[in-house]
Amino acid sequence: MILVLKKGISQEETEQLKDQLRTENYMIKEIQGVEETILGVVGTIRKDSRHFETLPGVAKVIPISKPYKLVSRELHPGPSIIRVGDVSIGGDRLVVIAGPCAVEDRKRTLEIAHVVRQCGAVLFRGGAFKPRTSPYSFQGLGEEGLRILAEVREETGMGVVTEMTSPSQADLMVKYVDIVQIGARNMQNFELLKCVGRIGKPVLLKRGLAGTIEEWLMSAEYILSEGNGQVILCERGIRTFERYTRNTLDLTAIPVIKKLTHLPIIIDPSHATGLREKVSPMARAAIAAGADGVIVEVHTEPDKALSDGPQSLYPEQFKQLMRDLYVIAPVVGKQLDFAYLDKAKIMKRPAVAGALQAHVVYPGVPGSFSHKACLQFFGSEPPHQNRPSFREVFETVQSGAASLGILPVENSLTGSIHENYDLLLEYDLKIVGEITLRIQHNLISHPNGSVDAIKRVYSHPQVFQQCREFLENHPDWDLVACKDTATAVRRVKENNDSSEVAIASKEAAELFHMSILQEGIETNPRNFTRFVVVSRDQFLEGPKDKSSLIYSVSDTPGSLYETLKVFAERRINLVKLESRPIHSKPWEYLFYADIEADIEDLKYRDLLTELKKKTEFLKVLGSYSKGES
Ligand code: PEP
Ligand code: MN
Repeated sequence: MILVLKKGISQEETEQLKDQLRTENYMIKEIQGVEETILGVVGTIRKDSRHFETLPGVAKVIPISKPYKLVSRELHPGPSIIRVGDVSIGGDRLVVIAGPCAVEDRKRTLEIAHVVRQCGAVLFRGGAFKPRTSPYSFQGLGEEGLRILAEVREETGMGVVTEMTSPSQADLMVKYVDIVQIGARNMQNFELLKCVGRIGKPVLLKRGLAGTIEEWLMSAEYILSEGNGQVILCERGIRTFERYTRNTLDLTAIPVIKKLTHLPIIIDPSHATGLREKVSPMARAAIAAGADGVIVEVHTEPDKALSDGPQSLYPEQFKQLMRDLYVIAPVVGKQLDFAYLDKAKIMKRPAVAGALQAHVVYPGVPGSFSHKACLQFFGSEPPHQNRPSFREVFETVQSGAASLGILPVENSLTGSIHENYDLLLEYDLKIVGEITLRIQHNLISHPNGSVDAIKRVYSHPQVFQQCREFLENHPDWDLVACKDTATAVRRVKENNDSSEVAIASKEAAELFHMSILQEGIETNPRNFTRFVVVSRDQFLEGPKDKSSLIYSVSDTPGSLYETLKVFAERRINLVKLESRPIHSKPWEYLFYADIEADIEDLKYRDLLTELKKKTEFLKVLGSYSKGES
């Protein structure tokens, strides 16, 4: 059951209460909310709920209706984020785990690891103890396999996931592994579950071949009840009457799990389908359905694989899948990035002799879309700070007080944010990355608000434009312009007037503890904003496949055409071309161009030389990894 504690209860009183409950043999899980503290009380409840109501410091008693308690959303309404080194599972950044079914030998394993790491996988999989249907099939390399996995982590920085098939392997797991996998065949091996509950490493708990969702969650409860809350659920297909595929992937499990538990869920499309060509479509569907990631089998020579070759992707297929997921992710409000681990390394660098106030700065206030872009690009760990204007973001990065800045440059419906284009010209910063965010607008009210009560709506003027159709249905509402959407929510919160609402992101509503009256009220759902990451001297690793340039040409016929020819002749795709007035020279223009190539690569040296000749002014803003949309 859940005990909601009285507001203002002291730490000492809370500890006393917990001690008393422990003496009654209950397990306690304390959750500190912004406004209240709750205690999850788990164990055999022998007493009537009135007993708990009379305990000092308890405001309310809420029974947990489900048989699983610690894994239940009732106990823990927000999502659990499981951290594995620099990787967070269950947040806004999708996690892709890849590798062979089994660790076969050192050379092959390292070869596959480098390939998947380069494509953007952040964790590596590979079985060393293989539960095979036949005793005559390859059983895995045992400890030697674990040593190879540890070497993979050393060489690539990827955490490693491997299956544990017996409690006798616990010490080995502690020594070598980052995530312990409980295989489908062991989902209800309760001694094994209790054992991984005690070893304190994150656990990837696969759903059993014939396990119901409730049984699966009860298995997770075993692990949590031993004190280990780091459980990642993995749907890998269940047995049905259908024999075309190896198993039947239950994608419904994703929204069901999301509702019932706070634990993250990832999908294994490899074991679910058993067929290579079916893996990518199911992985794409999983992400679209809201999974926190996927675990995929990849092999450099699947035909020679010692196990599960027919369902292992070729590296090229995996690369394409990653590109597809990259595109799908923003649609469901998530990100997948190719430089996740490299960015984490930059973020962990200690601040330089106190000169660095923050690693990353973003414009606006917490809860704004720029803040969201910042969290999605860099994760929630590094020190972030906000600045009141775009210019101050440039200033902070230029002065060295922050190493990176993130700024919106373009919206898919309303076009370029010219102020930032002008600032990119003025300051000497490089674009080192980009990210595209889907912009969804929500009508946000005080808790228990109603549409009928609305008189005034606060938001940014561009947002009113983007929600035009919705607002046209309510012509009597007053529209009040604010600096940004998060400020709009804050004003509504502070005014405390139930006739006022704001239009902003879901995150802004959560931040200010406000309610969403209506979701997705933007006229066109294909509403994306592109942000660029700027820096003075940082470079982010990963494939650089896009560059941004600014240039001007002479006032003669064909001069712009001549510059475009430079790209066309090399079959380089031009993805954006825009002109901006040169402030000091009326009726003269600068061209802003984005091209799909790493223009700073040595192989394009002659291109740059030619372009310099054909332009009067040329500035390369940077080369970076494309954030597709
Ligand atoms: C595996 O991941 O290699 C594996 C054996 O999976 P499952 O337990 O889902 O069959
Ligand atoms: Mn396998």
